[in-house]
Parts: sequence; C-alpha cells; structure tokens
Amino acid sequence: MAACIFCKIIKGDIPSFKLFESDKVLAFLDIEPLSRGHALVIPKHHGAKLTDIPDDQLSEILPVVKKLASATGAENYNLLQNNGRLAHQVVDHVHFHMIPKPNPEEGMGISWPAQ
Ligand code: C5P
Repeated sequence: MAACIFCKIIKGDIPSFKLFESDKVLAFLDIEPLSRGHALVIPKHHGAKLTDIPDDQLSEILPVVKKLASATGAENYNLLQNNGRLAHQVVDHVHFHMIPKPNPEEGMGISWPAQ
C-alpha cells in the first residue's frame, strides 16, 4: 500500500536497521525503542489488523521471533501486538513488538549482534 510507512520500509524507500528478512517477513529495530533491542517483526503482506493477514504469512512470524531471541540470547522479553486505536495501534500495518526486558542490574539490556 503506497502510503503505508511499513510498506515503504519493506520496499527500502525508508531506511531501517534490518535484523531479518525473508520473502514473507521483515524484522527491524523500532525507531523509538522502549528498551535496547526493541524490534518489530512484520508480515510483508499489507494489512492493518491480524485478521487481514493470510495464515501463511502469520505462521512465519513466531519462528522469526524465536530466531531473534536465540541470536541475541534474550531471556526476558515481551511480545506485543496491538490491534486498533483503543489498543494503542498507531501504524496500520500488522507488527509484533519484541521488547527486551533488561535486568535492572545490567543496564539498558541486550544488543542485537549487528547493532
Ligand atoms: O503498536 P504501535 O502501532 O503503537 O507501534 C508502532 C511502532 O512503530 C512504534 O513503536 C514506533 O516507534 C514504530 N515505528 C518505527 N519506524 C517508523 C514508524 C514507527 O519503528 N518509521
């Protein structure tokens, strides 16, 4: 969808720090991270809400989250997916937030390997 900011990121029209890419899924760092390593995992198919995304795209999301967790050794993190304004969705392209939860004794949290 031409006006969608995440579709522009997928196309490369807007720069992003990519962590993983396949033909169906893209993972990149959130530009306003809630903690270091806050990532977004999105289907390449444009759809505002979970119910708009084909199952074959959705089924690739969680394996990518697993890859990110393994690659970084993240042990504590939240996986969050907002649907609709009342649920605090701002960008109308389905996205899963992976938000590392740093140990308070270890500073800001984990870093992705290439960060
Ligand atoms: O779930 P919600 O729609 O509220 O979150 C959208 C997320 O997309 C925010 O965390 C925001 O920082 C992120 N974002 C981004 N790059 C953009 C625009 C938004 O990482 N160009």
